[in-house]
Amino acid sequence: MSGLREERSPIGDRASTERGPLEERSPIGDRASTERGPIRTPGVERIQTPEAIPVEDDLDRSLRPKRLQDFVGQDGVKQQLRVFIEAARARGEALDHVLLAGPPGLGKTSLAQIVANELEAEFVATAGPALERKGDVASYLSSLAPRSVFFVDEIHRLPRALEETFYPAMEDRRLPITVGQGAGAKVVNLELPEFTLIGATTRAGLLTTPLRDRFGVTHRLELYGPAELGLIVRRSAGILGVEIDQQGSETIASRSRGTPRVANRLLKRVRDFAEVRGPQGAGPARIDGATASKALDLLEVDALGLDRLDREILRTIGQKFGGGPVGLSTLAVAVGEEQDTVEDVYEPYLLQQGLVMRTPRGRVITPAAYAHLGLEAPRELRPESLF
Ligand code: ADP
Repeated sequence: MSGLREERSPIGDRASTERGPLEERSPIGDRASTERGPIRTPGVERIQTPEAIPVEDDLDRSLRPKRLQDFVGQDGVKQQLRVFIEAARARGEALDHVLLAGPPGLGKTSLAQIVANELEAEFVATAGPALERKGDVASYLSSLAPRSVFFVDEIHRLPRALEETFYPAMEDRRLPITVGQGAGAKVVNLELPEFTLIGATTRAGLLTTPLRDRFGVTHRLELYGPAELGLIVRRSAGILGVEIDQQGSETIASRSRGTPRVANRLLKRVRDFAEVRGPQGAGPARIDGATASKALDLLEVDALGLDRLDREILRTIGQKFGGGPVGLSTLAVAVGEEQDTVEDVYEPYLLQQGLVMRTPRGRVITPAAYAHLGLEAPRELRPESLF
């Protein structure tokens, strides 16, 4: 993860409702920085990262949709959740456990909070890497109010040994605890209140089958289209009290790499720019298409929404590795990032835009990527050589 990511608390702004053992512990960053490969210069912010950066907690919180009707897009997911929520409410029971998968910044935490709000239930949040011992899990689960939503972010990073603790908790609301030692040891079952576990993951593939199977509902969130992102930008502008026209919101949406968190961040940066250099000079922000374009150009966010690092990945494959194929680990070292970060954070959008392809032998860049970088594609990739 990037240097900034290292400084982030594992739970971000989610600590507000938190109880339990997490507070005393140092953020996962400490451990991650020594164990997990190359780290970018701390403090160097990557504007297009879909992950939360520490200074944004307030922004995330103020713009986060509170109700299902405020959550833009992902219609299939919303429809299904609405039905399940209504059914659970009618029966007065907790909702089935839900797994939300998808790249960062697409609304997994927001959806989990919305589920709690819609159920009028308590929301308690933690993250996989913050749960280290069985006692951590026991203290969270045993103190939940009935029908709470227990949110575990990055659930794929839950220590393996702890996964088994979750199985009986998810299935039968019990937590087996060993009391005593040696021959006199016995297992007693701690009864747990009814609860809904909502797990979020950027890597559903890393979850073990037994854990995955214990979720009654699994949803995959997809990158958002420009129209939905435009709506999100206008909604956020309304909350922030910023005037924005259609072209302004379209420009920001088209450069937000399919990710609401990025859209909100760009909106805020463009607002800052508009306040000092907007069409009417210094004063309250009014964002039109030209102002948005100018501000984003200044921030080096290009027309496709790529920032310097995305372009570095493309250029590295194109120039250092002759267009590829290059293995993910080699590529990660070459651009000075962690393998997981390249795969989970940068790649989804580059793949979606048709700039990178995954092949069995590694990553390759496409003619569209060469064109975007203004580089000449190798002969075999040029259209004339296809005939
Ligand atoms: P994740 O947990 O997947 O990383 P979050 O739920 O933290 O993503 O979302 C990041 C920010 O993006 C939120 O603060 C929220 O303002 C915004 N956001 C995400 N999804 C939506 C959506 N569908 N509609 C409106 N805003 C959204």
